[in-house]
Amino acid sequence: MVDYVSEKAKEIQPSATLAVNRRARQLQQEGKEIINLSVGEPDFDTPGVIKEACQAALKAGFTKYTDSSGILELRQAICEKLERENGLDYSPEQIVVSNGAKHSLFNIMMAILNPGEEVIIPAPYWVSYPEMVKLAGGKPVICSRNERFTANLDHLRELITPRTKAFILNSPANPTGVVYTQKELEDLTEILLSHKILCISDEIYEHIVFDGIKAVSIASLNKEIKERCVVVNGFSKTFSMTGWRLGYLAAPKAIAAAVANIQSQTASNPVSFVQKAALVALKYQKNLYRPMVEEFSRRREFLLKNLPEVIFYPRPDGAFYFFLSLGKVASPEMADYLLQKYYLAVVPGRDFGADHFIRISFATSLENLRKAVERLSEAVNNLP
Ligand code: PMP
Ligand code: GLU
Repeated sequence: MVDYVSEKAKEIQPSATLAVNRRARQLQQEGKEIINLSVGEPDFDTPGVIKEACQAALKAGFTKYTDSSGILELRQAICEKLERENGLDYSPEQIVVSNGAKHSLFNIMMAILNPGEEVIIPAPYWVSYPEMVKLAGGKPVICSRNERFTANLDHLRELITPRTKAFILNSPANPTGVVYTQKELEDLTEILLSHKILCISDEIYEHIVFDGIKAVSIASLNKEIKERCVVVNGFSKTFSMTGWRLGYLAAPKAIAAAVANIQSQTASNPVSFVQKAALVALKYQKNLYRPMVEEFSRRREFLLKNLPEVIFYPRPDGAFYFFLSLGKVASPEMADYLLQKYYLAVVPGRDFGADHFIRISFATSLENLRKAVERLSEAVNNLP
């Protein structure tokens, strides 16, 4: 039998976040009382005005191919958003809208990596970064963390080689919720600039922040770093639009043009009527996401107060995850134990490059979180 699957495809791990979610849903369908803390997906419905805009676009027949980088009107609105909220000055030809931030991230890897070039990724990292780098022919190089769970800059310096092409920054971070401080960003900027390393800044959780903390875009620190930055963002988290699949990147002109070419040959364009809906999301922005962030904040408070004291975690200032250390048990076994014995679906830390941790998402109701805390408390007391 001929083996048609490429070596490259064989090397790729399936997305653990999506795999655990699938398993949890399966068990729920079989009637098991699973509490699903796995996938990072807001549990609110998409705001009505966004849905209405989509329906109106469909009704008006806005159902054809669009400009492959996204309609000009949307790219202009994204430029205004970047200026208004992040102090970043971009023109529409520097914006490429794609089918989710995940797609934007994959596009950028394809656009920048020659075979064997290295991308430094601080751990814990979102599960898809290393796999995307590998798919694009590059080599993921993992940087350790410091006690704040941000990148260990001494280790970063040691990892830099002539093959280092880019660094992935994710603040607020998945899976820890950690938000880089201004000083941490400045120190990182200095290193990236002195080695001419491109910074891919994944800012998808920028508005999900707590206790008055603000997530600063590294690209806004100064002109030099902006010229070496690709800012990635999307609609999934801020507007509870995960299934709509819409994200974007902003980049220096030559890079944006390369991404646009790749997208034109591989995806044609982001979904036409979804782009019209996104315009409305950007118009109403704060009014739409503020109530959701307030609810996330209540849930986070609940967990901060009620998680058993023996569980260690970095304090999440943003996103909607807690990254928990329950002891010395390896994370896949721990996740398995929690699922089989306590009907709690969590993602093993190993998939985020940090064993002995598990990730829970608090994008679920307070009622579910109450039950989850009870089960977790019991589970840590009865650890094998
Ligand atoms: N970046 C991070 C850190 C994420 O957690 C996610 C999860 N969805 C994405 C990017 C991709 O988001 P999407 O493709 O839904 O826009
Ligand atoms: N990013 C979310 C998560 O980490 C959604 C699933 C995914 O795309 O990984 O759970």
